[in-house]
Amino acid sequence: MLITRFAPSPTGYLHIGGLRTALFSYLWAKKNNGKFVLRIEDTDKARNSKEATDAILEAFEWLGLEHDGEIVYQSQRDEIYAGYIKELLEAGKAYKCYMSKEELTQLRETQMANNERTMYNGKYRDFEGTPPKGIEPVIRIKAPLSGEIIVKDGVKGDVSFKAEDILDDFVIARSDGSATYNFVVTIDDHLMGINEVMRGDDHLSNTPKQIVVYEALGFDVPMFYHVPMIHNSAGKKLSKRDGATDVMAYKEMGYTPQALLNFLVRLGWSHGDQEIFSMDEMKTLFDPQDINKSASIYNTQKLDWLNAHYIKNSSNTELAELLSPYGLVLTSHDKKEILLDVLKDRAKTLKELAELTKEILTTPSSYDEKAVKKAFKGDAIKILNAFGAKITATKELHLPSDYHTLMEQVVSEMEIGFGKIGQPLRVALLGKMSGPGLDSVMAILGRDETMIRIANAISAH
Ligand code: GLU
Repeated sequence: MLITRFAPSPTGYLHIGGLRTALFSYLWAKKNNGKFVLRIEDTDKARNSKEATDAILEAFEWLGLEHDGEIVYQSQRDEIYAGYIKELLEAGKAYKCYMSKEELTQLRETQMANNERTMYNGKYRDFEGTPPKGIEPVIRIKAPLSGEIIVKDGVKGDVSFKAEDILDDFVIARSDGSATYNFVVTIDDHLMGINEVMRGDDHLSNTPKQIVVYEALGFDVPMFYHVPMIHNSAGKKLSKRDGATDVMAYKEMGYTPQALLNFLVRLGWSHGDQEIFSMDEMKTLFDPQDINKSASIYNTQKLDWLNAHYIKNSSNTELAELLSPYGLVLTSHDKKEILLDVLKDRAKTLKELAELTKEILTTPSSYDEKAVKKAFKGDAIKILNAFGAKITATKELHLPSDYHTLMEQVVSEMEIGFGKIGQPLRVALLGKMSGPGLDSVMAILGRDETMIRIANAISAH
């Protein structure tokens, strides 16, 4: 069975790059009826926090990315790692190194002065004498001294590393006994049955070290996919300013989960020239073979475009639900349908949609000065009064077309152009010149609120 994973370090919020590899891993597992598991890499006690872990889980929940099985926390697995370290020591594949910090620093400085690569010199690799006193040893693994390590990578092809260029006998356990990063990743990937690893290509340089651990322990090496980074439009690594921010900030900004996932799947992956993908389509079409070999470019306009698309194509019931986190509870508003119908193609984000909606539902407390100057001249007040009288005289007023008919009657009876009623009425109803069709606005507000707003405007001008 194909098992993929996401293995974030909870040092901060979940950001867009991490989420993208998580999504790729999720989709690939789903496509193959496999499993997608989650591991929290929380061994760095100084930098990890419970809040950061919670934030990651909250983002997953918001986006509907479900992981299989229990979450694995590395912080709870010290004993497991210690067991494997012992096994390697006993097999002579790892050894205790008593080099002091000072000696190690000295070694580095000499190597630097000689323009050599800084690396451990193997002093204790085959040491058989009496170890120096007073030093708690670290454990180093015996890395191959020569030959090549090949990373089989589904994005980059076979990537070969020369052992002598990149490896030394790296530390697998610190002097306090705690296992190091590349060691625990390998142990866990193996024990969790992960056979395909997708992660950012900033991790490629760790992979040969992990392969050394796999081989020392006789574990099968998984298939790797190192996904190129996301860049900004200037071709630089994505920064906070470009949008490399907390995934939950996208929720706050009013993006829908669908739009964000659709946006992310296209960052570095394509399927012909298709842009819109439902979750089901992503699950059937995603294939890491189609991951681009070069960095992808983050483009906010594209995200806005996708978000507008999903807002426009959501049912009003779905939208009402999506809008509730933005302080807009529409369930009891009987004109919800008209309201969302007129507004949903005017908003790029749910936040904007909530604001537009609130703007309509709130009685204006002031009027845009420029708009007043333009609209309230000539017979404006007379026209509004005539329109108000029509409303009072009409029994059945429900639909936008009912209000439209009344506006048409005033226009023809007073022999005026449509703008002569439209402009003052718009200012009266909305306080400004912009906004959706007035007939819809009045249908949403209903007779009483429409009359209140007209009367307010008349008395104010
Ligand atoms: N914990 C690592 C990170 O958050 C990822 C490790 C991996 O994917 O192998 O960058």
